[in-house]
Amino acid sequence: MDTGQPGDSFPPGTMDRAPAAADQEPAADRRSGEDSRPTLAVWKFASCDGCQLTLLDLEDELLGLADRIRIEHFLEMSAAEGPDGRRAELAGRGPYDLSLVEGSITTGEDADRIRHVRSVSRRLVTIGACATAGGIQALRNFGDVAEFRAAVYAHPQYISALENSTPISAHVPVDFELRGCPIDRRQLLEVVTAYLAGRKPGIPDHSVCFECKRRGTTCVTVAHGTPCLGPVTHSGCGAICPAYGRGCYGCFGPVDRPNLRSMVAQLGRDGMSERDILRVFRTFNAASPEYACVPDLAAEGRDAGQDEPRAPTDTGQEGPV
Ligand code: SF4
Ligand code: SF4
Repeated sequence: MDTGQPGDSFPPGTMDRAPAAADQEPAADRRSGEDSRPTLAVWKFASCDGCQLTLLDLEDELLGLADRIRIEHFLEMSAAEGPDGRRAELAGRGPYDLSLVEGSITTGEDADRIRHVRSVSRRLVTIGACATAGGIQALRNFGDVAEFRAAVYAHPQYISALENSTPISAHVPVDFELRGCPIDRRQLLEVVTAYLAGRKPGIPDHSVCFECKRRGTTCVTVAHGTPCLGPVTHSGCGAICPAYGRGCYGCFGPVDRPNLRSMVAQLGRDGMSERDILRVFRTFNAASPEYACVPDLAAEGRDAGQDEPRAPTDTGQEGPV
């Protein structure tokens, strides 16, 4: 039901999964006093903070945004302390109209905390590869966590971690997912302003190739035989890497329904070995379900005799490996 409240026009399908908190009246309406701005909370889980910094990078727009939305919980930019002087006291009780969530779920404590965040958030948007696909941390999903722990920590018996790094949507309903490692500041601004305007965010699901065409960049694969994940990678960066003569390595994650069979075969023809194909997909978005078929497709190429890579054309161009 469209109540005319900010956020009520988030995409169909994602809205359907919103929990009871989304049906409540806006948090701002429940507050007494004169400030009726919607409230924003920013949360961090396992991550590098780069996506939160993108919000701070909105230097020219941030003051205008602050007129429209009240930032109530954002530890990264806050100097506030709890009553006993401890920042840990700032638990973020809410409720909040919009929560931006960075990072993946890697501990049992994370799993409990994200359920709290969902329960106090009217709308919840995940930001970045960590939150939408498990992030670089999800590389652990392909190895033995106990071995990593013993290699890194002097007293591994004190470390408690889950076997897998999982995206936020594996634990709670999510209203919108914003891709990228890190996210793009213009896309972040679009999501927040769309929420304020009560409409669907205008984040197109086309590939990096589309952006290359739009900015007039010569295709690095066609012109130089450079391996490039642009055909299966979500747009958002403005196709930066091909514009500087190197292949895309997929930091914005998969487009909707990527043609991975064709992509993997093309990477083989462009000189990548089976091992390198696995590596390039297992970077920022390793746990994306779309990529689960890549090992089989790469092995098919090997069995078909494609694992004798020819050297890419020597043009000084860099591929994604
Ligand atoms: S998605 Fe990338 S930039 Fe964002 S928090 Fe994760 S590692 Fe950092
Ligand atoms: S790796 Fe691909 S998606 Fe990431 S910045 Fe480069 S071109 Fe854009």
